[in-house]
Amino acid sequence: MTDLWNVWFTELHQNRAGLTIKIKKLLYSGESPFQRIDIIDTYEFGKMLVLYGSIMITEKDEFVYHEMLGHVPLFTHPDPKQVLVIGGGDGGTVREVLKHPQVERATLVEIDEMVVQKCQEYFPDVAGQLSNPRARVLFEDGEKYLATTSEKFDVILCDAADPIGPAEVLFQKEFHQMAYDCLNDDGIFVTQSESPFFHQRTLKNMYQNLSRIFPIVRVYWAYIPTYPSAIWSFTFCSKKYDPITDFDLNRYLKTNPETNYYNEGIHKASFVLPNFIKKLLDK
Ligand code: SAM
Repeated sequence: MTDLWNVWFTELHQNRAGLTIKIKKLLYSGESPFQRIDIIDTYEFGKMLVLYGSIMITEKDEFVYHEMLGHVPLFTHPDPKQVLVIGGGDGGTVREVLKHPQVERATLVEIDEMVVQKCQEYFPDVAGQLSNPRARVLFEDGEKYLATTSEKFDVILCDAADPIGPAEVLFQKEFHQMAYDCLNDDGIFVTQSESPFFHQRTLKNMYQNLSRIFPIVRVYWAYIPTYPSAIWSFTFCSKKYDPITDFDLNRYLKTNPETNYYNEGIHKASFVLPNFIKKLLDK
């Protein structure tokens, strides 16, 4: 353990802006076969998982991302039994998915076993549900898994890191087509789609590609303080169900999941887009 005094972590956004956080302690630093992994304790955000220099989760705000990725599709699909999460080795998305009693199995396909091991060690509140009997954890490339599996899913969630390195393929149309093919006839696919402020080309390309594959494609967003620009987008893609008209309010009220961001109002409001995002997607 290294004690640090007046040392700050800065994540650069597009090499033109950044987020700076004061470090309390560097808890772990290492290299997996896929990426550099740092776990840093901070004064403001608690412990943070940093991969290849990019913040993945912090204890203080991880709930926003994981709740919004998990509950929006799961309260739209009427009977989500088989759920697949690609990436997401911190376990936060699986934790939210398993709050739905209908889910028989949540399969996590993560390329980097070390991310899971380190998160189980340093973030037990986030990764704890990976040892739930309803969770299955596979260490494999998400694209290769979809290309070879014969399984079908009700919901597929892409909890990928940024489109660089091993995650790049998870932002391409070939991968999106494979996700479509591995869904049941009424399946839903949701992917994180980066910052609508800093990563406009990525979001627009994903939206256009996904709109050519799925009949229903809607972008929604959430406020996440430690992600670039603090506004983060998700793209909801569905073969049948609409996230607003098919939102199951009764099931939400009955399930009453313990959440800190998501609720029935946020579910609908998150699909209301500011004009700069509407214009970007309409172009
Ligand atoms: N919430 C995060 C974000 O948007 O910044 C995502 C966090 S999660 C830790 C991302 C995970 O995706 C990483 O653990 C990384 O190892 C994994 N990953 C990257 N490429 C992958 C691939 N091709 N297949 C499966 N997992 C992948």
